[in-house]
Amino acid sequence: MQNCVILNNDYSYLNTVSWQKAMRLLVKGKATVLKYSERIVKTAEEVVMKIPAVMKLIKLIRTIYRTRVPFSKKNVMIRDGYTCQYCGASTKLTIDHVIPVSRGGKSDFENCVSACQDCNNKKSNRLPSECHMYLKKKPISPTISEFTRIKAVKAGVYDLLKDLGVY
Ligand SMILES: [Zn+2]
Repeated sequence: MQNCVILNNDYSYLNTVSWQKAMRLLVKGKATVLKYSERIVKTAEEVVMKIPAVMKLIKLIRTIYRTRVPFSKKNVMIRDGYTCQYCGASTKLTIDHVIPVSRGGKSDFENCVSACQDCNNKKSNRLPSECHMYLKKKPISPTISEFTRIKAVKAGVYDLLKDLGVY
C-alpha cells in the first residue's frame, strides 16, 4: 500500500491518502506533484504512470484555518504526542480530566490530557496538586498550523516534507 502526502496550497501538511485517491486528484487537475515515488502503475489503457509521493493542492483550503481543531480523544493524544502527561509513558494511554468530571471539569482541550492507566488510577478524582502529580505542560487548544505539523510528524512524513523545504 503506497500512500501519498497531500499538502495544502500554502505547503502546510493536510493528510495522507491512498495512491488511488492521489491519482484521482491529479487526473481531476486538483493537485500538482512535488515529488514522485519509485513506484509505477499501469492504467487500463496500458499507460505507465509514476505514483506521486507528495502533492500540493491547486486551490488553498481556507476553511481549515477558520475552524478550530475539533476536540476528540484522538486529537488530545495527537497533541500530547501519545505520551502520558504525568510520567511520560507511551503505553496503556487513557484520557485524564485534569479537573475531574465529578468536580465540574469539562471535556475540552484545556482540561483533558493523555495519561497512562497507572497515573489515571493514581490520580483518580483528585486535582493534580492534591496528589502531587504534575503536568509536563499546560494543556491548550492547539492551533491548526501546530496541529498539522504534529500530524506530519506522526504520519512519519515530517522528514520528507523537510527535504522538500516545506518546514
Ligand atoms: Zn503515567
